[in-house]
Amino acid sequence: MHVVVNAAMSADGKLSTRRREQVRISGSEDFARVDRLRADSDAVLVGIGTVLADDPHLTLDDADLREQRRARDEPAHPARVVVDSTGRIPLDARILDDAATTYVLLSNDASEERRASIDAAGAEVVVAGEDRVSLPAALDALDAHGVSELMVEGGGEIIYSLFAADLVDELSVYVGSLVLGGRDAPTLVDGPGFVDEPPELSLRDVQRVDDGVLLRYDVRGR
Ligand code: NAP
Repeated sequence: MHVVVNAAMSADGKLSTRRREQVRISGSEDFARVDRLRADSDAVLVGIGTVLADDPHLTLDDADLREQRRARDEPAHPARVVVDSTGRIPLDARILDDAATTYVLLSNDASEERRASIDAAGAEVVVAGEDRVSLPAALDALDAHGVSELMVEGGGEIIYSLFAADLVDELSVYVGSLVLGGRDAPTLVDGPGFVDEPPELSLRDVQRVDDGVLLRYDVRGR
C-alpha cells in the first residue's frame, strides 16, 4: 500500500484553532488539487477527532473526476476510512451516508453494541488492536479489501501514529498565509512527538498555490 498524507496548515504549523473548528487555510486552486488527489486514491482516511470536529463528507466535488473514475470501472468516490478505537462516531455523521463505502476501524475496546450499531449504519467494520486501533494491522486489512492508494487527511494524532509506525510514503503540506497560534491548537504532527530518530523527509517539489505554498516530500528510507 502507498500512503500519502495531505493536510493544510497555517504558516506556524497549526491544522486548526484551539477551538478545533474547521478553518479555511487554502483557496480554490488548492481545493481542486485535493479533489484530484482524492480521485486518484482508493480510500481517504481521517481520525475520529476530525470527524467529531469537522463532520467531513470526504467525497469528490468535481463531477468530471467522478465520471473519470466510473470510466475506469471504479466507484464514483473513493472509500472513506475513520480510525475510531471505541466507536465514538455519531451514527448520523456525514461520512456514514451511502455516497461511498466507509470503513470504520475499531479496536477490541469497542463494545459489541457499538460495533453492531456502526455495522447497521452501513459501514464496513474492521477490528484491529487492543486499546487503540493498530494501524499496521488495520492498513493490512484495508489492503486486503483492495486499497492500494491511501490518502490521509488528518488530524495531527493520526498523522503522528502513522509516522511512528513507519507507514507514510509521501507528505504533501499546503502552508497557508495566516498565523493561528495557540499552544493547544492541533499541529500537523501531534501525539507525543519524536525525540530519537525523527522521520526524515526528502523535498521533492515546492509550488506556489493560491496565496500559499505546497510542499511535497518523500519519506526517506521508504
Ligand atoms: P485525529 O487525528 O483526527 O483523531 C485522533 C483520534 O483517533 C484519537 O484521539 C483516537 O481516539 C483515535 N485513534 C485511534 N487509534 C489511533 C492511533 N493508533 N493513533 C492515534 N489516534 C488514534 O484528531 P486530532 O489530532 O484531534 O485532529 C483533529 C483536528 O485536526 C480538528 O481540529 C480538525 O479540524 C483538524 N484537521 C485539519 C486538517 C487540515 O488539513 N487543516 C485536516 C484534518 C483535520 P480514540 O482513542 O477514541 O479512538
